[in-house]
Amino acid sequence: MSSSNSGVGLATMELPAMDVSGRVARLRDRFVGADVDGLLVTKLVNVRYLTGFTGSAGLLLVLADDVVLVTDGRYRDQSAEQLAAAGVSARIEVSNTDQRQFLVAAVRACAPDTLGLEADDVTWGRQRDFATAWFPDLDLVPTSGLVEGLRLVKDAGEVARIEAAAAVADAALARVRPRLTDGLTEREFGLELDTEIRRLGATGNSFETIVGSGPNGAKPHHRPSERRIAQGDLVVIDFGAVVDGYCSDMTRTVMVGEPSSTQQRMLDVVTAAQQAGVDAVQVGAPTSAVDLACRQVIEEAGWGEAFLHATGHGVGLEIHEAPRVAATADATLAPGLVVTVEPGVYLPDHGGVRVEDTVVVTASGCRTLTLTPKTTAV
Ligand code: ZN
Ligand code: ZN
Repeated sequence: MSSSNSGVGLATMELPAMDVSGRVARLRDRFVGADVDGLLVTKLVNVRYLTGFTGSAGLLLVLADDVVLVTDGRYRDQSAEQLAAAGVSARIEVSNTDQRQFLVAAVRACAPDTLGLEADDVTWGRQRDFATAWFPDLDLVPTSGLVEGLRLVKDAGEVARIEAAAAVADAALARVRPRLTDGLTEREFGLELDTEIRRLGATGNSFETIVGSGPNGAKPHHRPSERRIAQGDLVVIDFGAVVDGYCSDMTRTVMVGEPSSTQQRMLDVVTAAQQAGVDAVQVGAPTSAVDLACRQVIEEAGWGEAFLHATGHGVGLEIHEAPRVAATADATLAPGLVVTVEPGVYLPDHGGVRVEDTVVVTASGCRTLTLTPKTTAV
């Protein structure tokens, strides 16, 4: 065993159980407000949230007194195992040729008047299919955010998974950070980071790793290129790991060599803005207040126009999920919400600086899950 294997398993330490089995009941509680008698869940990440099933194909029909998961033969055993492990009692129906029959039969038995569809997931073509061929006698209702609304507040098991993913990301960056002075290209450095994330036990990256060096750092979502990281570069590194389906998200900006006075000021201003944003994370605060707290610090420094994006977003089963943390957002912070705080300043002649943490809202403020120090030296 080489020493580089010493961290294997960091992500697979015993994780506390999640309360999956209670989610369908909480979804049903939302039906009245949405004017539906049932919901056909087509978005796979929502199917996963409600049942524990992680396959790449499946439909979940939730009615007042029936829950049916239909999938195909590839997932016959996996679906049964995962629902049992999650303690979810749903009927599982498997077919490679006619999944429709099971849903039509379930609808006939329960006789709902209305059935909700996930309007943000169902394509136009699919909706026409559901309306004409699958459920011609039902009033199909477009719904938005029914399951996502449940996913907003994370239980302790979910927070533990995001925290484990963040710990993998912290450890991976600590290991590969010295290589920033080795003359690697952005792509090579990104690959080192991604490999370390996998080596530490994560199932993958929560999104394509961003490595933006020098002028490339001034593009907030730069894709790693063949540019060689050099002395005098600010390097924006934005990445995350996935543990048991849950994502982490963190950005650190590292200075290779000595910063210019402008680069140092960028680092100081963005770090202060990010701290102001984290300090503004309070139960009951609108997420727009977090954005404002960051933005004010950057505007006072004269760089308001160079803060090119919103301050943050929710993180969970998806890397970007509700709530938005933005000037135009209308969400309110509550315990158990997990959000990022990630202000930045982007100046083409000097590079980019972004600092991002993922935090969980607590009764007394928030707890930061991404623990890599903000120190900017390699
Ligand atoms: Zn990020
Ligand atoms: Zn982010």
